[in-house]
Amino acid sequence: AVPTAVMVATGKGAELGILIKGGEALQRIGGVTAVVLDKTGTITEGQPTVTDYVGAKAAPWPNREVLRLVASLERSSEHPVAEAIVRYAAEQSLVLSRAENFQAVTGQGASGWIDGISVLVGNEGLMAASGVATDELREEAERLAEAGKTPMFIAVDGRLAGLIAVADRIKPTSREAVKRMKRLGLQVAMLTGDHRRTAETVAAQAGIDRVVARVSPEGKVAEITRLQKEGATVAMVGDGINDAPALAQADVGIAVGAGTDIAIEASDVTLMRSDLRSAVTAIELSRRTMRTMK
Ligand code: ADP
Ligand code: MG
Repeated sequence: AVPTAVMVATGKGAELGILIKGGEALQRIGGVTAVVLDKTGTITEGQPTVTDYVGAKAAPWPNREVLRLVASLERSSEHPVAEAIVRYAAEQSLVLSRAENFQAVTGQGASGWIDGISVLVGNEGLMAASGVATDELREEAERLAEAGKTPMFIAVDGRLAGLIAVADRIKPTSREAVKRMKRLGLQVAMLTGDHRRTAETVAAQAGIDRVVARVSPEGKVAEITRLQKEGATVAMVGDGINDAPALAQADVGIAVGAGTDIAIEASDVTLMRSDLRSAVTAIELSRRTMRTMK
């Protein structure tokens, strides 16, 4: 039988918008020693907006046309940065074309054909893999990343055409949540597929000093496994499809509200409010319940 204290705590959690999948999960949460946080949509709002566009000097296309091409491509992507680019193009009243052979490159970008021209958008790694030289705009990209923005290179017809950057605000509650986690004696780290400098700036804003950037979904799993081998009991907090493997690998998976169904399914806890303070409350609730049962 489920102890009364566990039932009471699970009910209390539900009242606070913290859905815990069963008594066994509730008991595990309090034993966590490390919390790993996804960046986009977990620490930040997850609704980036375009802040900058820089055209390459030698590009034979006007900026407006490059923007139209990249937005036409991104219309086929479901990534939050893609949505930001499409919205930005709409604001400029650009008429988009249909993408052909659209391909998403997980954690890196996307490629496809627009009006018979090849278009590629994404991070430096994707450009390097496609043989596109980014030298002309690399310094600009670093500068944008240091400001906490996410820079993405655009190649048209195999040549560098421009650089577009998006910014995503940190949730106003994230910093306080991190402070409370540290006060509970927890190790706190951030994982992201984003640019290293962008990640470091956002982490500093949230008060996090351990950052692993440029990681793939599998890389997120590997980082959690590494912490577990070091002896940590790990909670992973994430919202996206790309977080599902890491949420499943962690000792406790915590899906952040309004997250994707796949993330929720892979988790032990779902936070109805998109607020990291709820994760802290879940840990405190579990610890308190376990104490009363002793
Ligand atoms: P996160 O871990 O922050 O959720 P992702 O792993 O989804 O990030 O993506 C990592 C990086 O890959 C993004 O910061 C971006 O630079 C690039 N990227 C991914 N998808 C796209 C896309 N559709 N268009 C442009 N860039 C993309
Ligand atoms: Mg995310």
